[in-house]
Amino acid sequence: MSGPRPVRAARGTELSTLGWQQEAALRMLQNNLDPEVAEHPDKLVVYGGTGKAARDWRSYDAMVRTLQTLKQDETMLVQSGRPVGVMQTHEWAPRVLLANSNLVGDWANWEEFRRLEQLGLTMYGQMTAGSWIYIGTQGILQGTYETFAAVAAKKFNGTLAGTITLTAGLGGMGGAQPLAVTMNDGVAICIDVDPRAIERRIEHRYLDVKADSLQHALQLAVEARDARKPLSIGLLGNAADLLPQMLAEGAPIDIVTDQTSAHDPLAYLPTGVDFEDMASYAAKDPAGFTTRARESMAQHVEAMVGFMDAGAEVFDYGNSIRGEAQLAGYDRAFAFPGFVPAYIRPLFCEGKGPFRWAALSGEASDIHKTDKAMLELFPENESLHRWIKMAGERVHFQGLPARICWLGYGERDKAGERFNEMVADGTLAAPLVIGRDHLDCGSVASPYRETEAMLDGSDAIADWPLLNAMVNVASGASWVSLHHGGGVGMGRSIHAGQVTVADGTHLAGEKIRRVLTNDPGMGVIRHVDAGYDIAESVADERGVRVPMREG
Ligand code: NAD
Repeated sequence: MSGPRPVRAARGTELSTLGWQQEAALRMLQNNLDPEVAEHPDKLVVYGGTGKAARDWRSYDAMVRTLQTLKQDETMLVQSGRPVGVMQTHEWAPRVLLANSNLVGDWANWEEFRRLEQLGLTMYGQMTAGSWIYIGTQGILQGTYETFAAVAAKKFNGTLAGTITLTAGLGGMGGAQPLAVTMNDGVAICIDVDPRAIERRIEHRYLDVKADSLQHALQLAVEARDARKPLSIGLLGNAADLLPQMLAEGAPIDIVTDQTSAHDPLAYLPTGVDFEDMASYAAKDPAGFTTRARESMAQHVEAMVGFMDAGAEVFDYGNSIRGEAQLAGYDRAFAFPGFVPAYIRPLFCEGKGPFRWAALSGEASDIHKTDKAMLELFPENESLHRWIKMAGERVHFQGLPARICWLGYGERDKAGERFNEMVADGTLAAPLVIGRDHLDCGSVASPYRETEAMLDGSDAIADWPLLNAMVNVASGASWVSLHHGGGVGMGRSIHAGQVTVADGTHLAGEKIRRVLTNDPGMGVIRHVDAGYDIAESVADERGVRVPMREG
């Protein structure tokens, strides 16, 4: 019988499948579940609360088996982490098509989702977990770094030196926060209820030290702040207790955000519950747990609003904590903005988003060579140069070596084609996979996050991610996924992803050129349609066709 076991992707050039497209899908599925990468691999959970790569171990085995025999003109269909069919297609078609966690509108809530999940009919795919392009905490690091850089630019003369950031959540994504703050020269206090999460971030060099108590954390933070030295401090405890306490004590906090798994009330620890009892309590009484978690989130958010009233820069970091606090009856939950309208939307207008690639060889030197190629390709892009240099020095690879880097329309295709040439001419030891997060410019409808406060009020229009998935299928992506509920939870988002393999062939080059032009192109046209001037200029300058602006 199949059950939990350690999973690790193969390295090198020997294939256990019939081609690199299939091999890439297999290795990335396995890489998502590598204990070095996944938060709870024994439960197939990759990150983001309960975001999974496969529905159950039987489904995982069936996907591995199927990928190993899948032909170049076949496509495997995956329904919420379970392979449900193999269809004859053609060589330009994706080798895998995935649909995760989708529910019909009126049924799109956690209660119904969990009922169906219990029956074994679905799984939560989050964003990159169920679409097999999670690359560890690095995947969110640059976005988090850029967000804190935007905070610094907006309020602190371009640097976080001399400031203290307070946040919670040191999980798969939230664990990027301490390093992103220190990369911006600031001090961060990061709260988590799970001692393992703190230890793991220290081990991976994302977090510097662990404090023994709240007073100790504040003392370390103030000393570092006064010396204008970057420092990140882990603090064990419940954010819903600690934030109100810190506010009441007048803690000198400049910036507040949060990345606990608030999008899923069963993944947020209510106050008064021991961390050790969390899983059994959530399983035994999900309704009671949800009510208490939401009440605690209301307390947590009320303290965040208190810090805002006291002059701190406060923002929601894409986990829906404001929505959950509002459900508990807190009426000022939306007093502070989400990070997308506050800092990121201008980048989305240029088709920019978290572009990423992973080396199927398993060799770090392949990523270092691609880093060098990026610097040569975009010599005038200073922030990219700064990022690639810092990432090269400070990012610990988890699983297959990988890199993330925000690139826009007209840039991603250049990078992709260059990478394919480097595979073809033997510069790289093996093919690369090229994909992106779903937290992206033109592939998400998420009114509490990516599409919050759109200029034309189109926040909840979900046609865009569907068009994005379809255009990526039509353009030749290697696998394409369409999900519901990622980032912010059930009923609150629809989003799509694509991954394309650079195997050095001419055909791969043709596919890469189309996919990596059309995919960010969706970001440009989405924002032109919503009336953003920057997007209109980008479309005009870079030749993105928008029929309603022609003739
Ligand atoms: P995760 O489940 O891996 O980690 C969440 C962490 O929160 C855990 O370590 C948990 O112990 C801790 N936690 C839970 N309740 C707590 C409490 N009351 N006090 C203190 N700590 C508590 O999740 P993740 O992958 O790190 O994602 C975190 C959230 O961020 C999710 O809601 C996710 O959807 C969202 N997210 C945001 C972005 C972004 O760009 N901003 C991107 C992806 C995901």
